[in-house]
Amino acid sequence: NEGLGSWPARRARKTPHRTALIHGGTSIDYRTLYLRTTRLAHALRERGVRRGDRIAYLGPNHPSYLETLFAAGTLGAVFVPLNTRLAGPEIAYQLADSGAKALVYGPSHAGLVAGLPGSTDVRTYVEVGAEYEEALASASEEPVDTPVTPDDTCIIMYTSGTTGRPKGAMLTHGNITWNALNVLVDTDLIADERALVSAPLFHTAGLNMLTLPVLLKGGTCVLVEAFDPDATFDLIERHRITFMFGVPTMFDQIARHPRWPAADLSSLRILTCGGSPVPTPLIAAYQERDLTFLQGYGMTEAAPGTLFLDAEHAVSKAGSAGVPHFFSDVRVVRPDLAPVDVGETGEVVVRGPHVMPGYWGLPEETAASFTDGWFRSGDAARIDEDGYVFIVDRIKDMIISGGENIYPAEIEDLLLAHPDIVECAVIGVPDDKWGEVSRAVVVPREGTTPDPDAILASLADRLAKYKIPKSVVLAEELPRTASGKLLKSRVRTRYGNS
Ligand code: AMP
Ligand code: MG
Repeated sequence: NEGLGSWPARRARKTPHRTALIHGGTSIDYRTLYLRTTRLAHALRERGVRRGDRIAYLGPNHPSYLETLFAAGTLGAVFVPLNTRLAGPEIAYQLADSGAKALVYGPSHAGLVAGLPGSTDVRTYVEVGAEYEEALASASEEPVDTPVTPDDTCIIMYTSGTTGRPKGAMLTHGNITWNALNVLVDTDLIADERALVSAPLFHTAGLNMLTLPVLLKGGTCVLVEAFDPDATFDLIERHRITFMFGVPTMFDQIARHPRWPAADLSSLRILTCGGSPVPTPLIAAYQERDLTFLQGYGMTEAAPGTLFLDAEHAVSKAGSAGVPHFFSDVRVVRPDLAPVDVGETGEVVVRGPHVMPGYWGLPEETAASFTDGWFRSGDAARIDEDGYVFIVDRIKDMIISGGENIYPAEIEDLLLAHPDIVECAVIGVPDDKWGEVSRAVVVPREGTTPDPDAILASLADRLAKYKIPKSVVLAEELPRTASGKLLKSRVRTRYGNS
């Protein structure tokens, strides 16, 4: 077995007694992880799961998530993580689309699972807790020997779907391994790492940028079910956490928390932030505490690490998403795939052993996403004279006003520097004269009501006139995906008219 399923066995051979996972009061060492994974593989096989079958998982961060992933890998089956925030019909769609045969789910989702339609292919349901433990207890510990190659599919991960229907990105064992190797090459991750996993494991970043590289190296992952800034301070101090990964909103909530000034953060060595543009004021707030963000840019389809900004350049190249990971090739191109000149905006395209072969069951969408072997990210970016890439925005979020291109992120970054604005989104609204003009939707800090004219005035000498929003709308919150990505399309439907 050359796939992920062999990782627990390989680690158990080297570091059987080191702690792999901590969850609540439970610690699981690598040997135990191997034995539990093996037992689960047998239990699933007894329940009819075969090589190539899909096994879905629905539940918050928990050791059983990783055990199911590795057990699936051991059998050559495909793991399908489901987003815990989805509604019943959305879960039913992903189960049906993936053709999952088995579903392992957390007790928190028992009600949702009971209400699922019988029309899916799921025949085996295992609830985490007593039922799951019984299945393990009665199964064999004999090694499972299924041939698996790096090109076999390991995970079908549905993209967070900021637009349209979610598509299942097929990630092979090789894709995930190369991504983990990229993380090990490009960070100073060590075997003594203690990682805090509060980002959801059902998203690519929490799994592939944090948990799997740490487990590959033999470190410890502390799994927590939901991110909570207050609890984060306790966990960092109790476990002397060295490594955290988060989306910018998570790090933002930590920095705004009353415990921030007095907290002992001295154990932290690696902070990786990615998934969305990282606002410059946030980088500065951590810099004041001598904490440097490594920044990552990636996408589910690339397993996901694509660009990475290391500690050495965190300040001198602030605002950049960095350069390609060691085993990745990235270009910023014109529509005909010719590389842009320095300073010119183009689309990010990526190629490498970490890029998916395609979307599950969608050959046309797959073909449309690649040009000459390059995956088209749909993100607009610029490149500087040293080759550092600056992500500008999603291409489809671009606003065209009187023939000028406006990238909302540039304006949003400035708005976020305003002391009374905690979140914002800039969208295009129809305009008779200009075609489109921009509008700022802002969430004021609790207890404040900033004056829209004053907000606009604060932008006046920092932006070209055509970029300055023509209106400001105050909102209580902005729609986001589970991973904290702004749902621009929903902001547009909610605030884009009249
Ligand atoms: P997903 O496929 O859900 O993982 O989302 C991938 C998308 O997130 C990318 O195509 C970008 O639009 C966005 N994204 C990820 N990382 C960054 C980053 N560091 N800066 C800006 N946008 C990012
Ligand atoms: Mg995407």
